[in-house]
Amino acid sequence: MNSINFSVPGKKTTVPIHIGKGIFDKIKSAIPFNKYSSVLVITDENVSHHWSKRIHEVIGKKAYYLTIPAHEKAKTLSTVGKIWTMLSKKGFDRKSLVINIGGGMVCDIGAFAASTYMRGIHFVQVPTTLLAQADAAIGGKTGFNFNGLKNTIGTFSAPVAIISDTVFLSTLPQREYLSGFAEIIKHAIIADKDLFKHLLKKDFTSLSSKELDKMLSVSSNIKCEIVRKDPFEKNERKKLNFGHTVGHAVEMACSNSPTPLLHGEAVAIGMIAEARMSLLSGYLSEKKFRDIEKLISKAKLPNKTKAIYKNVISKKMLSDKKNVRQQIKWVCLKGIGEVEVDVDLPGEIMEQGLRYILK
Ligand code: NAD
Repeated sequence: MNSINFSVPGKKTTVPIHIGKGIFDKIKSAIPFNKYSSVLVITDENVSHHWSKRIHEVIGKKAYYLTIPAHEKAKTLSTVGKIWTMLSKKGFDRKSLVINIGGGMVCDIGAFAASTYMRGIHFVQVPTTLLAQADAAIGGKTGFNFNGLKNTIGTFSAPVAIISDTVFLSTLPQREYLSGFAEIIKHAIIADKDLFKHLLKKDFTSLSSKELDKMLSVSSNIKCEIVRKDPFEKNERKKLNFGHTVGHAVEMACSNSPTPLLHGEAVAIGMIAEARMSLLSGYLSEKKFRDIEKLISKAKLPNKTKAIYKNVISKKMLSDKKNVRQQIKWVCLKGIGEVEVDVDLPGEIMEQGLRYILK
């Protein structure tokens, strides 16, 4: 097992992140369950389908269990309402605990509900997708989608622990698994040349459990360090948004189509568009740009989206919550591990960057 400590934004405490295969079984030795008056376990339908027996065995009969619908479409105020209703009806008090067992969707929405119920109760994140283990469960951002926009309502709130058990990945569909590498690739691009070179040599479909644990630890550490330096996204943390301005817009643009993209897939396309804009602005070399494209294609992630979405993508980008006075603030790459944030780009560069990812 690998363990990392994440510094809680604005506080002097740290959150332990445990990474390893089979560690969920020992959750009771990592979290003092007896200290809590009640425990609610939140999962989604798919996690429950594969893992409910194991979860019940490990957590026990005294806890309450809530299964919410799977997928991004359920990341709504109505689902938050279901969680609050359960907490309230079952008499959960301020000394209660919520355990979110699922992908980024369950972790984000369960954490939001816990962080606002009675002005905030304790919660634990047990991410079960690679994407959530590498990214979503770390960093203290919680939230849900509102009015057609991603994560518009949310809080900054830290869990008491993060338990990243890679055994859960055994039931994850291959497409979901590969989607998780997008955020690991992003961490390498923005902060770690060595990790980037290492990933270029890897076959993502046949990593050993030890290699995956190591990769997750390095990647998680990058996110922890960035968040430690800038918990409330004043500067350094904005680097983590690389690929996400275009990525979120692409994800939302095709969310109601018969072929929606997964979050990591949309971020992969977003990273290509934003790296292209960096190249066109003279920040990034052609060689580095091609390496980024190569790495994304090695992870079998998509690099283009349908041209029919172009207008919706442009519109969604203009309502991105990171914008200042309707002006998009870009994360530009100067190299691998060299990033500039809050860059204003000319319309023509944005247009060309976007055109590059359309098919
Ligand atoms: P997800 O939670 O929707 O999970 C993807 C799919 O995998 C779902 O169908 C889910 O039911 C299924 N699943 C989960 N675990 C499984 C398992 N072990 N076996 C089988 N199926 C399983 O999506 P995701 O890709 O994990 O996360 C995306 C979400 O994370 C988005 O909502 C995004 O906004 C959010 N996110 C948040 C942050 C943050 O900092 N808070 C960062 C990145 C992404």
